[in-house]
This record gives sequence, structure tokens and C-alpha cells, in this order.
Amino acid sequence: MPGPKGTYSFLTPVEYKGVIKAKVDAFNKQPKELMTGSLWGATAGGDMEDVKKFIKDHYKVAQDYKCSYCQQRIEVNHNGAWDAEHIIPKDSHPQFMFEPRNLCISCKDCNLIKLNKPVLKNKTRSTFADSPDDYLICHPHFHEYSQHINIIQEAGFYLPRTPEGVMLVEVCGLLRFVLKYADCEWDSEQLAIQIHSLGGELISAAPSARFAIMAMMRTLLDEGLRKAALLAISARVDKFAAA
Ligand SMILES: [Zn+2]
Repeated sequence: MPGPKGTYSFLTPVEYKGVIKAKVDAFNKQPKELMTGSLWGATAGGDMEDVKKFIKDHYKVAQDYKCSYCQQRIEVNHNGAWDAEHIIPKDSHPQFMFEPRNLCISCKDCNLIKLNKPVLKNKTRSTFADSPDDYLICHPHFHEYSQHINIIQEAGFYLPRTPEGVMLVEVCGLLRFVLKYADCEWDSEQLAIQIHSLGGELISAAPSARFAIMAMMRTLLDEGLRKAALLAISARVDKFAAA
């Protein structure tokens, strides 16, 4: 949805005020070569704790306590439950550390897996990218999540609908949720819930997605395929967690 200035906005960006704004302005005025990602955790002489709290307090409410990436709702007010997340990593692009449209909150698991993986199509870009077309992943500010990923909550499935959705599933290791529901000791009730969810999905699926959904159903119903799929998924999740 184009915003007022022709930009795309699916999340209200944080608006700095007073002392917080002064600190952010001071940070942004520094020469670029003095900026590093580690300044986020700086204390002596550059205490940013109140700025970080301000950012988290804003996005917790703006995102209705849902992680930007996995959309799981964690209704916990204590900021320790959340990570302030730099969508373009602060280590590769410290100049965007306090850019409101580069910030959101995420759950600790998504943040840990996403780490410093590149999200920009042009990795060396120096000005802030404010168009959805500039990003490899589905972006919390510039893309509407449900158009890129369909979550089947009951089964822990994240069905990507677009290349940006596929990348987000990869970058944040969203396949980990299916593991929670699917171990090799499945009982038939769990299986029935998953097949039922996928069946509901199949009815409304676009022709292009039908094949993928039917392949998932086939995999679930065949014990051998299921075990192989689970092994493949867990290997990929481990790989991304370690990356
Ligand atoms: Zn998450």
C-alpha cells in the first residue's frame, strides 16, 4: 500500500523526541567512519539504553507484541523478552542503526538465526533503501506479510508465496516451527490436524501453490518421506542457526 509520500508503510516507524532525539541526532552527525555496529551496546559516554528502551516500547505496541518475522505473539511487557532488530544489520550498515524504518522488534530465536545475513539486493548500498524492491526478504515496513507468507498456525507451516517470502523463511529459519509439531513419534491426531489445515489451505490456494501443498500432504502421509523431510529440515535449521 503506497503511503502518503509514495512510500510503502505497513508499520508505524518510531518517532524520536526530546532527549532521545538529541542522542540519535548526535549519533547520526558523526562521521561515517566512526560508526560501528558495536556502538549499539556502548555504555561509557554514549549510553543508548534509554534510546533502545524507547525503540522497543514503540514497536512492541506498533506490532501488537508479534515478532516481525515469525509473527508469533509474545505478550510480555518486559523488554528482555524482545530484541530490537536492525533489518539491515547494524554491523554491515551502522549508519542505519537508528533509522526508524530499519527497526522493528523480533523474537530472540528469529534474531539469533537472522544475525548478519544480507537482506539488500545491493549489498554495498550506502543510502537507506526505502522501496520494497530493494530487499531480498519480505520487509516489516515495506511489505505486507500475508501477501508473502501464509502461516498455517496449527501445523507450524510457513508457506511462502513470493521470492521475498522464501528468503524470509530461509534467513530467519522459520522451518523450525514445523519441527516443534512434527517429531517421528507423531500420533494420528496430530497428523489429522496438519492434513486438515493443509486441506483448508489447498481449497483457497492459487494454482501455483497447489503443487507445493499437495507435495506437503503426500510427505506427511508417507512415513518414510516424512522422516526424510524432517531430517532435511532439521539439517537446514541447524545450518542457519550456526551461520
Ligand atoms: Zn520470531
